[in-house]
Amino acid sequence: MKHIIFPLLLLVTNFTHALTKEDVMSVWKSTHIAFYEELIKKNEHIKTIWTDTVDDKLVAVSKGLPREIKISNRLLEFENLRKVDLYNIFCHELGHLLGGPPYLMEYPGDLRTISVEGQADYFAAKRCMGRLLPGIQVNEIYQEISEDDRIGLRVRGCETRRCQVIAHLSKRSLELFTGEYVSILENDHHVVQRTYPYQNSAQCRLDTFIAGAVSSSERNYYLAFTNYFNQFSNGQRPQCWFHPVDILSI
Ligand SMILES: [Zn+2]
Repeated sequence: MKHIIFPLLLLVTNFTHALTKEDVMSVWKSTHIAFYEELIKKNEHIKTIWTDTVDDKLVAVSKGLPREIKISNRLLEFENLRKVDLYNIFCHELGHLLGGPPYLMEYPGDLRTISVEGQADYFAAKRCMGRLLPGIQVNEIYQEISEDDRIGLRVRGCETRRCQVIAHLSKRSLELFTGEYVSILENDHHVVQRTYPYQNSAQCRLDTFIAGAVSSSERNYYLAFTNYFNQFSNGQRPQCWFHPVDILSI
């Protein structure tokens, strides 16, 4: 009997289930705790709200105070979602509060600011996702990355396992949540004349996540140059949304 039950058990445990509310909340909690001190220093006290009415968004941090993060129960409908796939979207939301310039006014005439969409993405890959990933998990997830993607990432200056895992998880989240295909071997060639504050194309977002993963040193946090030649070796923010003139004027 044992030799029948064991393969059956293996089959059952390998099947990817959707996440539970507790799973989702535990990931948000660890993301929040990882940046708790920085948030308190900025007087950001975030109230968590579990909801089934987050418009079209799965996760959204409120504009204005009191600060709220709304997490949609639609996240429980994704069959292949894993806890690690949530790091990217929770880190993005924190990026609006902790990502630094370029900023967007929360309301016209209001002096409070939040980081623009591209900067929230850059922060997610540069400062947040890596903090949530223990070394053992990095090694595990690294095995999922295809050889083509590993080569493509190396070409873009993303050479360490940690960098590649952050880029890979970002790509997975983008594709899962937007339904759009994005490529590690391509980039968005669009060039902005001023920083674009709103949500960027999926490919432009992937370019930003990869750049953020490459540029993980705290020292060049305010690196003010774009990748004018479409090279990512220094982790500069891509020109599909970022323009340095808006940093220099802050
Ligand atoms: Zn956002």
